Amino acid sequence: METWDHVSEKQPVASRILMNSLQKNRISHAYLLTGGRGTGKKSLATLFAKTLFCPNKTGIDPCEVCNVCKRITSHNHPDVHWIEPEGQSIKIEQIRQLQSEFTYSGLESEQKVYILTGAHTLTVNAANRLLKFLEEPNQQTTAILLTENIGQIIPTIQSRCQLIDLQPLNESAFRKKLATIGIDPSETALLSALTSDIEEAKEYSQDEWFAQARTIVLQLINMYTTTPADVFVYIHQEWLPHFKEREQQELGYELLMIAFKDILYAHMHMDDHLVIYQPKSENLTRALHRFTAGEVSSVLRKILDAKRKLQQNVHPTLVLEQLALHI
Ligand SMILES: [Zn+2]
Repeated sequence: METWDHVSEKQPVASRILMNSLQKNRISHAYLLTGGRGTGKKSLATLFAKTLFCPNKTGIDPCEVCNVCKRITSHNHPDVHWIEPEGQSIKIEQIRQLQSEFTYSGLESEQKVYILTGAHTLTVNAANRLLKFLEEPNQQTTAILLTENIGQIIPTIQSRCQLIDLQPLNESAFRKKLATIGIDPSETALLSALTSDIEEAKEYSQDEWFAQARTIVLQLINMYTTTPADVFVYIHQEWLPHFKEREQQELGYELLMIAFKDILYAHMHMDDHLVIYQPKSENLTRALHRFTAGEVSSVLRKILDAKRKLQQNVHPTLVLEQLALHI
């Protein structure tokens, strides 16, 4: 259960701005929340919407238990719309649909909110359409745009919104926090490299799929050092069936990058920076013999390239096969 006190701990500045506008009842027509993954953009947007709609608030804290709060949590409230990228982008059709829904007055109240995640993925047409929508604000409509990459949002949209910058979370503080909720110290480095969201980190740490994902990634690298002829069979039998969804595939590449960065750190004698490998472990030693620092750098570039191809909708199997050939 999220309260304003709670989100303030994580994002003091952003929370203060939003709380202020709620307390003074001076709600902007549009907010643009910008911050990296796990900085709490969705939590803030959801809490903001709940405060606007919950009939049983205490101060500005929504009750979290009423029907309205529950429907907002489950994305089922008729006056709180979520627009998320379909595939790689937010398309003009999605903005059109939003507009037509918003031409009818609020179903349950006059107030309406739309929360647009991944705002940097708007297509050019969709962005222009949204811009027109932002330029003709309805008194009771609030737009909340969320993005990890403000550089890709056209300036005309930026200028229509109140910009709210979320702070990147302090990694060492985050690791300490993970330790206080009982996560094994050997895990905290990897988890904090992947996310700065405490709930997500906790989920990963308890997730069987994630534990296996990590094993598969390290096993693949081992294979290059021991039985490279088996790599292709391995990726078809183990990797591809495990990393099925798009998000999982991205996480797989993320883990692979982390592992290769470890090898690079070890080459530079920076063992205290190791994230996924145990210092001086047999597997790491073998990887150091197999990959020179220069080769690791080149592999890291190839993994980045593979991630990009994945985003361009190149078939995941093809992307992985090409990468495996290059390693
Ligand atoms: Zn409520």
